Amino acid sequence: MKRVLITGGAGFLGSHLCDKFIKEGYYVIAMDNLITGSLKNIEHLFKLPNFEFYHHDVSTFVHVSGNLDYILHFASPASPIDYLKIPIQTLKVGSLGTHNLLGLAMQKKARLLIASTSEVYGDPLVHPQSEEYYGNVNTIGPRGVYDEAKRFQESMTMAYHRFHGLETRIARIFNTYGPRMRLNDGRVIPAFMGQALRGEDLTVFGDGLQTRSFCYVDDQVEGIYKLLLSDYELPVNIGNPDEITIKDFAEEIIKLTNSNQKILYKELPIDDPMQRQPDITLAKKVIGWEPRVNRKQGMQRTFTYFQSLTKEELLTSQHKDFSDYIGR
Ligand code: UDP
Repeated sequence: MKRVLITGGAGFLGSHLCDKFIKEGYYVIAMDNLITGSLKNIEHLFKLPNFEFYHHDVSTFVHVSGNLDYILHFASPASPIDYLKIPIQTLKVGSLGTHNLLGLAMQKKARLLIASTSEVYGDPLVHPQSEEYYGNVNTIGPRGVYDEAKRFQESMTMAYHRFHGLETRIARIFNTYGPRMRLNDGRVIPAFMGQALRGEDLTVFGDGLQTRSFCYVDDQVEGIYKLLLSDYELPVNIGNPDEITIKDFAEEIIKLTNSNQKILYKELPIDDPMQRQPDITLAKKVIGWEPRVNRKQGMQRTFTYFQSLTKEELLTSQHKDFSDYIGR
């Protein structure tokens, strides 16, 4: 049985990856410090003989006994509000955490896949974003802690690959959504869903003309899995190119949830990218992957998940906006 370590295994993407690797017959070790992850996401796996959980912060020395074939580094806060709340941890997990896992991968002779992000492109001046674009990042802005940690993570991973010959893979993950997103992580989908379900107006930041392109989690997990098992060693965008403005998206969600809520316009967060759309030509070519789930299907499944949460969960997870964190 092949053995895989998934850091951030109790998080949104991490827990879906645990499910995928269990389904594919692997022995799965999930590691998480539970700052933003939740055991609820992996509760159903604890009874399995081929699943283990380590409660550990990968920013400190990482030890795993036994052999490992693959490591997937998915530990990191991944929403703008999270990195405003825990900026130092965000920097540490992308830099020190990655360094520790590169060392572990060397020791175990394991292949390491790192979760990079469309944030390496910053507020992009090129549209859509292909892997060749170097990005437009404000190093010292509030998002810089995430963007620069992830850029450093890519550099360090390539250095280990080139200098030590370590087998590495780099997934540049674009906005991904689905069941298990944290209701209060501040990201647009849980924010809008929570607001619609609580009967509040939907908060659109800025004029809502900024765009995003949302990928359903099952597609994302499939792309990551294929990349891990492929021979391709340079970064690959994984996302859904179906682009929409945030204002149109808010209107779609009002229709989907059958709520009569209005749109409430709020201040745009600093350095909020104006447009984002992955160019996935490379993914199609080198891993034979493209997304299959359209936004309508994916959003319906996601809404069903948020509807299944208890009233208490909905109320204790009131969405806060950025002004609460940056003192504007
Ligand atoms: N956004 C919004 N209202 C919210 C939360 C987010 O209008 O309550 C906007 C945000 O300003 C950004 C987009 O939705 O333009 C996506 O934000 P998210 O935090 O989900 O992810 P990002 O792609 O910015 O990392």
